[in-house]
Amino acid sequence: MHVHIFWDSLSPEGLQMPVARCISSLLGLKTTVSENPVRIAGMDMIRRQVDAQALLDSIQAYKRRQNIRDPVLLVVHQDLFREGNRFVFGLARESVGVGVVSTSRLNNEYYNLQGNDDDYIDRIVKEGAHEIGHLFGLHHCEDPECIMFKPDTLDELDRKKKNLCPACREQLEARRAGYIEEC
Ligand SMILES: [Zn+2]
Ligand SMILES: [Zn+2]
Repeated sequence: MHVHIFWDSLSPEGLQMPVARCISSLLGLKTTVSENPVRIAGMDMIRRQVDAQALLDSIQAYKRRQNIRDPVLLVVHQDLFREGNRFVFGLARESVGVGVVSTSRLNNEYYNLQGNDDDYIDRIVKEGAHEIGHLFGLHHCEDPECIMFKPDTLDELDRKKKNLCPACREQLEARRAGYIEEC
């Protein structure tokens, strides 16, 4: 079992390997990175954002066609929204094992600050690991330093550590064992 990371062509070039390595060691899961084969569905021309639910539908359909049983995380650069939210950093659909993360609001340049690849990688890792956590059945956590804490702002994302709290860690390990058996 491993997690497929699909890296879209507009996502930051050159960061995919460090991000994948870091997510692997954070969650204790194997990851593979490949070029994104999924069409970016759900573009809303008025909002200039992509509907994350429509994009998840697209990944789900691809996963079924290709008969991929392992979880899939798509990394895109388009800004994402969901009905009722101005934007989302990412979204996951646990029942079918698909998730998406946007790098759009994760770079310093978005906030008119000096760009920094280490910050950028850290944030993509935290968001990616968070969505993958959902794919393994983890819910949001109250601990502001845990990967499963739901950040509403960049500051809250930066406050998180690249780690799971002991309770979430234990739950992930139990779920992962179950996942391997099922497949
Ligand atoms: Zn979440
Ligand atoms: Zn936690």
